[in-house]
Amino acid sequence: MERFDAVVIGAGSVGLPTALALAQAGLRTAVVDAAPSLGQGAHKAAIGGVRATHGDPAKMRVGRESLDVFRTWHERYGDDIEWVTSGYAFVAYREREATMLQRLVATQRSAGLDVAWLDGDAVHARVPALARDGLLGAASSPGDGHCSTLLAGQAMAAAARRAGASFRFGERVSGLLVEGDAVVGVRTDRGAYASPVVINAAGAGAAALARQVGDTLEIVSELHEAGITEAVAPFLGPLVVDIRPGPGSANVYCYQTSRGQVIFCLTPEPAILGDDLVETSAFLPQVARRLVTLIPRLQHVRVRRTWRGVYPMTPDASPLVGWSSRVEGLLHAAGMCGQGFMLGPGVGTLIARMLRRELSDDDHDTLAAWTPERAFEGREALR
Ligand SMILES: Cc1cc2nc3c(=O)[nH]c(=O)nc-3n(C[C@H](O)[C@H](O)[C@H](O)COP(=O)(O)OP(=O)(O)OC[C@H]3O[C@@H](n4cnc5c(N)ncnc54)[C@H](O)[C@@H]3O)c2cc1C
Repeated sequence: MERFDAVVIGAGSVGLPTALALAQAGLRTAVVDAAPSLGQGAHKAAIGGVRATHGDPAKMRVGRESLDVFRTWHERYGDDIEWVTSGYAFVAYREREATMLQRLVATQRSAGLDVAWLDGDAVHARVPALARDGLLGAASSPGDGHCSTLLAGQAMAAAARRAGASFRFGERVSGLLVEGDAVVGVRTDRGAYASPVVINAAGAGAAALARQVGDTLEIVSELHEAGITEAVAPFLGPLVVDIRPGPGSANVYCYQTSRGQVIFCLTPEPAILGDDLVETSAFLPQVARRLVTLIPRLQHVRVRRTWRGVYPMTPDASPLVGWSSRVEGLLHAAGMCGQGFMLGPGVGTLIARMLRRELSDDDHDTLAAWTPERAFEGREALR
């Protein structure tokens, strides 16, 4: 049996940067994924929005660390991941959202984030494409941005390989190998790997793996759709999020890529649960109505395609990261909700610090907030 210092289950938004962080920390690392290539789970459905501006303090910390990784990727590793420091604008057209966002901005600023409340005129001057009528203002965070999830995933895997990590694709982990009260490796449909540390970064499949040793990960698969238009001349600066509820939706968000296409998404309300990844005919008319109301010029832009993917949701919309309390050496990093791509690099470096026992006070706070065994009392303001 091949031996590793750490085996990561899942080459997705969390598994890829985790493999990189562990290999860079000098650990002999293997990544095992059931799919034939990287990023075939929720990762490839993500639209690539990256922000540190969350409601949960732990997400703000990890988000900030991740943001630095994405922002500096090109200068550090040389790959173009189509990163753009576009900023985010959470816009408000009703007093209710304006009040909520202004409170959040105050919290985020006290956590040291670069974010400010802009009034309607200021927002419109910055994003003239937005519908002006009724625009009260926006929470604007100029340091946030976006990149290509596909390019970023490839770049992370290549960097992980250069740092010594190895990848096993088309190999499903069928069981965790446990001796006494400690994990000693994984069994796959092709063989087995020995390792004193196993990281469960299996996304929508993480809860089933955890159940094998009696651990409960409170994750449900929420289905979300997204789409992309043809490329048009640049007209939209920041990634725009409109958190007004609409018919059958909790919010809508979009941005224009560096290549000119507009990528968009909508959060269904009530949530649609399940594992049916076939895109629907209901999504496009629904999201188009919202987008054209928000950004009227989009009525002239043609949509190229839509797709559907999973948000691995937890009850409080924050991730589940922590050691199993039953099996030594088993670490869960799952339940990333709608932010696994943007949190991935920060989760990866946090896990590397856990393995090297180099945790800071902030890390301990993050892990206390994200323990899979928490009571799930609150709920993240920005899902
Ligand atoms: C439409 C849409 C838009 C989104 N937009 C954004 C965004 O802009 N920004 C953002 O941060 N997030 C976004 N997300 C959320 C993001 O995609 C997820 O949070 C993230 O991809 C989850 O990462 P993960 O690594 O936990 O899971 P995944 O990326 O799904 O990776 C899990 C991997 O584990 C593998 N696996 C599972 N079970 C096994 C097993 N038994 N053996 C071996 N391998 C296994 C799978 O094949 C998969 O590759 C979006 C999601 C959707 C659906």
